[in-house]
Amino acid sequence: MGVFEHINGDGFEQIVFFSDDRSSLRAIVAVHSTALGPALGGTRFWPYPNEEAALVDVLRLARGMTLKAAAAGLDLGGGKAVIIGDPKRLKSEELLRAYGRFISTLGGRYITAEDVGTSLADMDIVRRETRWVTGCSHTYGGSGDPSPVTAYGVLQGMKACALEAFGAAELKGLRVGVQGVGKVGYALCGYLAEEGAEVIVTDVDAGNLARAVSDFGVETIPLDRIYALDVDIFAPCAMGAVINDHTLSELNCRIVAGSANNVLARDEHGEKLKDLGIVYAPDFVVNAGGIINISDELQGYNRERAIKRVESIFETLQSVFAIAREQDMSTVAAASEYAYERIRKISRLRLVRAADNCPAPRVEP
Ligand code: NAD
Repeated sequence: MGVFEHINGDGFEQIVFFSDDRSSLRAIVAVHSTALGPALGGTRFWPYPNEEAALVDVLRLARGMTLKAAAAGLDLGGGKAVIIGDPKRLKSEELLRAYGRFISTLGGRYITAEDVGTSLADMDIVRRETRWVTGCSHTYGGSGDPSPVTAYGVLQGMKACALEAFGAAELKGLRVGVQGVGKVGYALCGYLAEEGAEVIVTDVDAGNLARAVSDFGVETIPLDRIYALDVDIFAPCAMGAVINDHTLSELNCRIVAGSANNVLARDEHGEKLKDLGIVYAPDFVVNAGGIINISDELQGYNRERAIKRVESIFETLQSVFAIAREQDMSTVAAASEYAYERIRKISRLRLVRAADNCPAPRVEP
């Protein structure tokens, strides 16, 4: 299948292929939308089986970033990049700097960040060649690891869900099952313990489990029992597609809210959750703390301002739940509606230009 068949009808603005033989860099950058601002999204470094698989992935991820940034109230669009290959074998200073130089040629239409297969340290290297990178380390004036802030955003989302399901934005005394206690899940357990929630966790990594148990006194449960666990909140914080045809019938919770991306195997599973009376916090809304935090670097990082914005995930979810109720739709459909409505409204304003054709004014959320 050709490139155009993949992008037709999806409104992609730009897709760029970069290659540098000497460093073995092969990268694709997809700019889905700059309607609200520069397209921000991480760089995934992954051993794709072929170029088509890489293209399909970068397009899917870039589209998701448009929704995530719009729903988060940011003046940013959606984009993503993939570097094809095994990062363990291929990653080098030369490759990352070559990548940085290519990113620079896009003139700020695309801003990169870390993702699967790339790290904070990698972004510090990319930054030596381009200013269009965010999520750098504190040493370079960056915001550092976004994971604890993502966890804080999930906590705000859980409170909004609790308000929707139980009538009070309180987590005290609620039972929460956390799948995956890695960077985000671990920090989330800490917040939940502070709130007085009862936390039960599972993980494939015994070391990560032990850390959560010793630091927060959480209970553990075998991997396959997390879905059927009798809890108020199920928090997927490991991998995607965990709400699927098999797990739906097992669920024994009132709320699904976690940090994982692409939690629903298919959008229709959002409908099924609605039918089951389960309040679902759409992943791209509830896990936006990380992007909100790194995007603040673009204005000179200010942690207090970033955290304030992350707290707005609570109100965003309230708006999403209201749309879902009013229009009798799933929360995931409502969240898309919310994001696209904002894109429509704000991008219309950008048609209003000063006579000297200066850039449109920034519209602060
Ligand atoms: P991580 O790799 O640090 O943690 C993932 C944890 O899940 C690990 O402890 C791993 O052992 C565990 N795990 C893997 N497979 C599992 C399984 N089958 N069952 C139970 N546990 C399993 O990753 P992270 O940064 O904490 O991210 C977690 C999720 O949140 C990912 O889906 C990621 O895409 C998403 N996310 C993260 C951020 C962020 O700021 N880090 C932001 C947005 C979304």
